[in-house]
Amino acid sequence: MAIYPIRTFGDPVLRMETKPVTDIDDKVHTLVRDMIETMYDAPGVGLAANQIGVSRRVAVFDAQDELGPRVMINPEVVETAGEWEYDEGCLSVPNHYWEITRPAFARVKALDLDGNDVEYAGDGLLGRVLQHEVDHLNGALLLDALPKRVRKKALKELREEALGLT
Ligand code: ZN
Repeated sequence: MAIYPIRTFGDPVLRMETKPVTDIDDKVHTLVRDMIETMYDAPGVGLAANQIGVSRRVAVFDAQDELGPRVMINPEVVETAGEWEYDEGCLSVPNHYWEITRPAFARVKALDLDGNDVEYAGDGLLGRVLQHEVDHLNGALLLDALPKRVRKKALKELREEALGLT
């Protein structure tokens, strides 16, 4: 088990689309174990592999329900519905939260660690974390979901922060 440093905004790996997993081997099992440990250590409710610098289509999440940590390999969002504004944050953009409107409900198809088809579907925190993690695997960040004007302000803040101006 290992806890990895989490890549933050500005790291190019976060902007690259991740590669699908073709063989769920021991390396993928180890990666998932380490990702779960890193997620809980952060602490966070979801983590995508590229957030620890591994450009593969793997994410873990814990929607704070009775099901505990779950894994999605090669996930795709196949259905969304409704609309919900939620104060969303990201381990890769630490200490910032923005009111972000996204579909309230999401359904994701993926593979589990045994290579079986799995489906995760729900609203609330589960619906939000599913969309957030699949976005990561597509090279997107929560900033991309902000309205243009808010995004501009957020980017300015983050740049100033990186330069030590705040
Ligand atoms: Zn995130």
